Amino acid sequence: MKKSFNIAVLPGDGIGPEVMVEAYKILNIINNEFNFKINTREFDIGGIAFDKFGTPLPKKTLDGCIKSDAILFGSVGGKKWTCLSRDKQPERGALLPLRRFFNLFINIRPIKLNNDLKQLSPLRSGIIKNGFDILCIRELIGGIYFGLPKGRNTFNKKNISAFDTEIYSTKEIERIAKIAFQLSLQRNKQVCSIDKANVLESSSLWREVVTTVSKNFPDVQLRHLYVDNAAMQLIKNPNQFDVILCSNLFGDILSDECAMLTGSIGMLPSASLNKNFFGLFEPAGGSAPDLKGKNLANPIAQILSLGLLFEYSLNLQHIARYIELSVIKTLQKGYRTLDISDGKNYINTNQMGTKIAKTLSEIIKNENHIISKNI
Ligand code: NAD
Repeated sequence: MKKSFNIAVLPGDGIGPEVMVEAYKILNIINNEFNFKINTREFDIGGIAFDKFGTPLPKKTLDGCIKSDAILFGSVGGKKWTCLSRDKQPERGALLPLRRFFNLFINIRPIKLNNDLKQLSPLRSGIIKNGFDILCIRELIGGIYFGLPKGRNTFNKKNISAFDTEIYSTKEIERIAKIAFQLSLQRNKQVCSIDKANVLESSSLWREVVTTVSKNFPDVQLRHLYVDNAAMQLIKNPNQFDVILCSNLFGDILSDECAMLTGSIGMLPSASLNKNFFGLFEPAGGSAPDLKGKNLANPIAQILSLGLLFEYSLNLQHIARYIELSVIKTLQKGYRTLDISDGKNYINTNQMGTKIAKTLSEIIKNENHIISKNI
């Protein structure tokens, strides 16, 4: 009997459902071509779930995720839901609790630019030289996004103060640092830890703990950069980075900067994992309300997120490689969505998904005779 896996699919809001359709095209091919079966069940999350059930994270959705081997997520949010109370908002009331519930403290974003796709980057070709391959590791369930207390002091109508707490414990820093060092061993063995240790107490501890953890990884070269300098260095010479290790806040900002270096946020996938590598896989970008319903969004981030799901949660690395290769080859053929085009010559979301799926089929068929399809 075929081995099977269960995936909870959460398309969400905005362009989420549109790009998810393209990920299904890839899943269908994989289901037809390989010796295992991927079962999918779709659930509502975010604004659409609030509209239907009065909560952005219905119990049915959470139960479906609990019963799955991995979660494929689109995106949530939109103007319509910004005035709701915090716990009803799509991101604060669904995505953040989901990350917390499953203890998804590891966020991984591979930021790659092939040498022959350098023209996609807004950076000058002289700066990029041979492309780049960065792995951004972000701590995902600590720091200022979750730190307490947070809130407001209202002195009078014209004088309100608001505050958040950036807080990290030794244990929280240790566990994410270990992951960064471990993953760097499969790469160029260089970790760059990002902080603001010259100003922030939490960053001083971050630097101390990361340095201590590094002693268990003598083969890995560690350096520290202040976040402001890191933001500059990424533009000055992205090729100098191998693994970047960041707190929640700094990782949120720098990984979006990294996304732009590859051409568009629509190209950047992400994996959010717990210690057993159960995970939620989603595009780095949001629900892009400006593109909703226009068939113009780039589906590549969603498709590559599916690739990461195969790599990290299902442990099927060869499938992840096939998916990545099909995206690269499709781009090499010259196909572009609006966000990575010259503004005149581009194909739509639907067409891009179909092109990638077709390329994937071709790759699998071509390599059929040399690679075993059995897991
Ligand atoms: P966004 O990522 O949705 O959009 C920023 C810019 O990137 C826009 O110009 C958008 O058109 C573009 N973009 C994003 N994805 C793209 C794609 N696949 N193809 C082409 N272009 C793409 O960020 P925002 O505008 O700050 O937020 C919009 C909404 O999304 C908000 O409600 C926000 O809260 C939510 N959001 C959700 C997530 C998530 O679900 N994980 C993450 C970030 C923002």
